[in-house]
This record gives sequence, structure tokens and C-alpha cells, in this order.
Amino acid sequence: MALIVQKYGGTSVGSPERIKNLARRVARFKALGHQIVVVVSAMSGETNRLIGLAREIMPEPDPRELDVMVSTGEQVTIGLTAMALMDLGIKAKSYTGSQVKIVTDNAHTKARILRIDDKSIQKDLKAGYVVVVAGFQGVDEKGNITTLGRGGSDTTGVALAAALKADECQIYTDVDGVYTTDPRVVPEARRLKSITFEEMLELASQGSKVLQIRSVEFAGKYKVKLRVLSSFEEDGEGTLITFEENEDMEQPIISGIAFNRDEAKITVLGVPDRPGIAYQILGPIADANVDVDMIIQNVSADGTTDFTFTVHKNEMGKALAILKDKVQAHIGAREISGDDKIAKVSVVGVGMRSHVGIASQMFRTLAEEGINIQMISTSEIKIAVVIDEKYMELAVRVLHKAFELEEA
Ligand code: ASP
Ligand code: MG
Repeated sequence: MALIVQKYGGTSVGSPERIKNLARRVARFKALGHQIVVVVSAMSGETNRLIGLAREIMPEPDPRELDVMVSTGEQVTIGLTAMALMDLGIKAKSYTGSQVKIVTDNAHTKARILRIDDKSIQKDLKAGYVVVVAGFQGVDEKGNITTLGRGGSDTTGVALAAALKADECQIYTDVDGVYTTDPRVVPEARRLKSITFEEMLELASQGSKVLQIRSVEFAGKYKVKLRVLSSFEEDGEGTLITFEENEDMEQPIISGIAFNRDEAKITVLGVPDRPGIAYQILGPIADANVDVDMIIQNVSADGTTDFTFTVHKNEMGKALAILKDKVQAHIGAREISGDDKIAKVSVVGVGMRSHVGIASQMFRTLAEEGINIQMISTSEIKIAVVIDEKYMELAVRVLHKAFELEEA
């Protein structure tokens, strides 16, 4: 007997028929004697619909009130899922985030989980219930409803698996595993049987949408055994996220290519080159809770330099306003501009550690297509470039081929 957390995404609960299908799968696991906790997302499209409604009322919705209403998507699916299980004669019980007590900080719309009270769930599992928990939502210390950021149900699933010391956390989605890249862009993309946790973390943080990045961080921190599977396939083995590099097999140098259209580039021109400038630019940005990803500062020839960084597209306006209002005059920058027509493309692989020349192969491949590189950032297992948005798909395709990631 094992304790398994199964997380189902929006498409897996997209209609009553699919919810019934999900319930039949859970029933099969239950029949094998396992204890099951199900975590569900809202029906596909529902969260977007709710956010759209909010924006019709208030263009920049109040974050607390937005959380109150967007969290309802998951409240609908937990009730429906519990009913579908009951209809099959299975004891089931639903929980909202606040009923469990998934306690988060108070950063509305992107809250972090602080702790989970697992007492009631454990009790129900012992009593033979399948427990159905709403993904994406939590509650802060004061009882306000919070949400964990888009795609946050993955994090709920993994965090619950960690809190319950589950044997495995299975993420059911509309693809049958983690691919070398998005098959919608590269039809030859290949499913990976396994991928290391570190690679998964890089892929998620570089824009792969298969798992929410925080869920991967959680899995790493608490060593949760994580598997990504298709909810439309009977016996797929999916992709296992492993903690060890595979020593028997030749480790591929590159495991995957991620891309991301969600970032915008902000450039501060003519900045005096003296200590404290990076802090004066990025300090107010951080204070406003805007996440910064890539950062580049040039060397100065004449005592001034240019400073470029990327933020989420949705936050470009906010970041530009902060810089123009509070920073520009203060540091004497000549000009501040934003560009949201960019994309980031990254190659990821632990094999890079022991191979040189990956960066030059990547840059040559892009150069051969005439694609200009605007920014570069690297880690031990990743090389990421910012390019013009319109070349993104081309870049992903040629890199996928250059690194021989196609189906064998
Ligand atoms: N329903 C939320 C979203 O669409 C959370 C999730 O699906 O993971 O972002
Ligand atoms: Mg998702």
C-alpha cells in the first residue's frame, strides 16, 4: 500500500465526462489498496475567464479580491470530483485550501506556502476516504484567501505530497510527460523517460510550462518523487524526475530546450558607472515585488554605462513607471526604455558540466540563421539567450536539430 498524491490539471477536469474518467482512474488505484489524495485545478479556461471578469470591473484588479474570486474555479472542481467518486461507490471528501489549512504568506496572487496542517487529511485517509483538495489556493495567517500564482495547483500537489510524506506525487496533464521541447513547436520533440531534478528546475524556470517552477523547488527541497503523466492514457509511464544522474546510460549533453515569451526587457541608458548603481536601479524594483530575471551591465568607456534587465511582461509598465518616477533623475540616467517584443530561448542539460563548446555551438547555430542575440546568461547547466520574439520558433527548431534531440 502506498500513499499517492495525484494532481489533475485543467484539461483533466475540463468537463463532467473527464471528471468521471478521472474518478475511474482514482478508483483503480484505490482498488489496489493505495491511499489517494487528489488535487485538482479549475476546469480549463475557467481561471482565465474569472480573471477576465475581474478586469472588466477593475482594469488592475485588487489582489485580495481577485484571489477571493479566482479561487472559486477550484472550489467547483473539488465538489464535482468528490461527487464523481461517490457515484462510483467510493468514500470521498473535498477540502478547500483554507479547510485543510494550507497556510501561505499574504502575497496575494503569488503567495508562498508556509505550512500545511495534515491532521484532518491523515484522519480521513485512515478512515478510507479519497481526499480531494483544491489546488492553487491557500489561506494567510489572518484568514484571507490567497492563490499561489498561475499553474499553482502543481505546487499544491507537491507540497501536500511533502507534508503527507507521500510515496509519489503524480502530475496528470494533457501531455504524456516532459519533452525535449514543446511538441507544438517542434513535432519531432521526444518524451524523456527521466530527467534530473536540477534540469527540470532549469527548464521550468526558463519557461517550460509542464510544471510550475515552485512545485519543482518544493520537490527538490523535500525530495518528493515526482512523475508527469498523461491523464488520457491508460498505462503510460510518463517522465520521472530523478535526483540522481543516470550513470548506466550515456548522459545526454542537452536534455531540453525551453522558451519563454513572457518577459520584457528594460534598458537604462547612460548610467554613471559607480558603486551602488545596480542597487539604486533594482532596489526600488524589488521593493515593489517585481521579479527580475536576467541582468546585464556593460563596461564603461567614458564613465557611463548601460544597464539592461528583464521582468515579466505584465510588470513592464510598473517597472518603467518606478524607474522614471523615482530613479532616473536621481542617478542621472539619459534614457529608459522598454521592449516587450522579445523571447528567451534556453538549452539545458547536466551534461554541459563535462562538455565544453556548447555555448559556441548554440551561438553558431543562431548565427547561421541570422538571429541576433540581445542578452546571454549562463549557469552550470544552462545557456539562455534573449532574441527578437519573431525568431523564437525558428531558434527552437534549429537548436533542437543541432543538439540532436529528435526522435531516434
Ligand atoms: N487554475 C489555476 C491556473 O489556471 C491553477 C492551475 O491550474 O494550476 O493557473
Ligand atoms: Mg498546469
